[in-house]
Amino acid sequence: MLSLDRLAPIDNFGHSIKTVSYLYRPSTVEQIVELFRLAERHGLTIALRGAGRTYGDGALNAGHIVLDMRRMNRILDWNPETGMIRVEPGVTLQQLWQHTLEDGWWPPVVSGTQFPTLGGALGMNIHGKNNWKNGTLGEHVLEFEALLPTGETVSCSPTCNADLFYSLIGSAGLLGVFTSITLQLKKLYSGNVRVSAWATPNLREMLTDLDRFKADYDYIVGWVDGLNRNGRGQIHAADYLREGEDPHPTQTLRVEYQTLPDTFFGVVPKSMMWLGMRFFMNNPGAWLINTAKYLHARTLEHNKQYLQSLVAFNFLLDYVPNWERSYGPEGMIQYQSFLPLETAAETYLEMLRLCQRRGLPTYLGVTKRHRPDKFLLTHAVNGYSLAMDFKVTRSNRARLQQLADEMNQLVLQAGGRFYFAKDSTLTPEVAARYLGEETLRRLRALKERCDPHSLLQTDLYRRLIRPNFERLAPNVCAGPALTANVVT
Ligand SMILES: Cc1cc2nc3c(=O)[nH]c(=O)nc-3n(C[C@H](O)[C@H](O)[C@H](O)COP(=O)(O)OP(=O)(O)OC[C@H]3O[C@@H](n4cnc5c(N)ncnc54)[C@H](O)[C@@H]3O)c2cc1C
Repeated sequence: MLSLDRLAPIDNFGHSIKTVSYLYRPSTVEQIVELFRLAERHGLTIALRGAGRTYGDGALNAGHIVLDMRRMNRILDWNPETGMIRVEPGVTLQQLWQHTLEDGWWPPVVSGTQFPTLGGALGMNIHGKNNWKNGTLGEHVLEFEALLPTGETVSCSPTCNADLFYSLIGSAGLLGVFTSITLQLKKLYSGNVRVSAWATPNLREMLTDLDRFKADYDYIVGWVDGLNRNGRGQIHAADYLREGEDPHPTQTLRVEYQTLPDTFFGVVPKSMMWLGMRFFMNNPGAWLINTAKYLHARTLEHNKQYLQSLVAFNFLLDYVPNWERSYGPEGMIQYQSFLPLETAAETYLEMLRLCQRRGLPTYLGVTKRHRPDKFLLTHAVNGYSLAMDFKVTRSNRARLQQLADEMNQLVLQAGGRFYFAKDSTLTPEVAARYLGEETLRRLRALKERCDPHSLLQTDLYRRLIRPNFERLAPNVCAGPALTANVVT
């Protein structure tokens, strides 16, 4: 038995799933090798964890070992001429841009928060508000090294060990451990982006605009009022400034210029904001906020542009530290689905209305435009995504799961996909239907090759993947039996 001193409470980003695990924080590859052997000796499994920004159970491992990778956070090599950077997996997006921005380089793909680690971001193969144009983060990886649970180290790029390259990226930490990552960054000529914002009276028009105007911008994203029957909302779009457009690039590319302020309106400390937000995390409160936001959006003119720092535009959610805690003690979940161009508008409208009818409207809805990619466990399609945040309470957990089950069927009928980074409600059957038998067979073959003793596991693996492996061929990849603690 491992020392009880190692036991630590670990939860998901939304604080809706609470677990206890043996927590280790390796700082070298050799320590990870030792930890694999330790797990094997004790009949335990290992989950990799970056900054724990995954909404569901993708970085949890109840009763087993969790490796927090954040001590492996060195920048190994940086070339300010070419924008090529090699980092350890615990380096965060924030650490990355803070290191490179003054030289005029920025990560080509970022999530809506700057706190994920590069290892975690590649584990899920994150996308940004520019997915239709720049693809996922994995598409900007030149090379990575990974340690497999067999003890083997592999070096992968789109041309060397390409099968492992396109399967380890996005494999939710189930095939190997990224130990170094080489990325190509994007050249910039200003620390500002030029932003346009406009209101959209309904969801159909929002999706049409996301598609119609995407060629004019580098980023585009929609906010949906989940309490409105027609899904009215607002679009924000932005583009980079071209060389010579910013009269003071040296200043705007400084870290201090980008850093988000500590107070709101110069008075309210941001660290306290989530507490105040609690008053609005109910149906009438969310209605009030959304209505005010929409009415304000209607005063904006599409053609009137303004400048905003890259950080303020990309990481709006980071403005309010711990905002997810405003949902209350049982936390929140996010439900994100990806639908093809042809079916998205009708299906998303049906989903919004279904949530409203069930008395469980989303308090935050976000739409994006996407394109497909070559990764084995891809979540993207040529179409749109809608991410919906839901408050979890003791009394609504079961109803939320029922709602998710109903929405899953709508998504499947519409030819859609899901994203492990956001999921806590899929069932093995739904996962099998969207991933497909062929993908599951390839994943199982890779799992046998990279991790023959199924040492790398997470609660998500046991909830969605392992039952499918067992169905495909009994007794393959059957690690120790465990109970995942998920929203039901
Ligand atoms: C506010 C907010 C906004 C977000 N916006 C977006 C968005 O716009 N787009 C988007 O795509 N996602 C978004 N996300 C999701 C988030 O970017 C992903 O969940 C990301 O994977 C989190 O990285 P992390 O370092 O926190 O990793 P964790 O959540 O800790 O882990 C993520 C996965 O990576 C695996 N992993 C961790 N380290 C390694 C490693 N070294 N080697 C191999 N596997 C590893 C883990 O096992 C796990 O499966 C958002 C999340 C939040 C909280």
